[in-house]
Amino acid sequence: MQSYSFTTQEVLDTLSEGGVKPSAQRMAILRFLMENRVHPTVDEIFKALQPENPTLSRTTVYNTLRLLTEAEIIRCIETGVNGARWDYSQHDHAHFLCTECGRVTDVAFTMPSSLPLPESGYQVKSADVIFRGTCPLCAG
Ligand SMILES: [Zn+2]
Ligand SMILES: [Zn+2]
Repeated sequence: MQSYSFTTQEVLDTLSEGGVKPSAQRMAILRFLMENRVHPTVDEIFKALQPENPTLSRTTVYNTLRLLTEAEIIRCIETGVNGARWDYSQHDHAHFLCTECGRVTDVAFTMPSSLPLPESGYQVKSADVIFRGTCPLCAG
């Protein structure tokens, strides 16, 4: 898996581009998502950050994720397995959910330019595409 590293300034810039006021906890949460492209759950983010941020609560993590999603800095993926996953991603892509181990992997995907919508007048702004099946680790 590709690894990512961001400076404090880059994390600050990303927050301010989304119009989100920076705080130490918001920066820690966003940086974690920017650097760990594994589509973590709220719990995974909380457990990873809590040792270095003893005052951090699960509620703060959840509320911050909601805030970052509303600012369109991150996206929320509702997999129905282990709860919502969170994704920092700048590009259009779909997801593959392994229904055995719950791992979520990025899949290159472009929206079709014409969709069989029932009538004219619909404007698609976004789509969440999730493929389900088994990953290579679980297939055998
Ligand atoms: Zn799997
Ligand atoms: Zn993704």
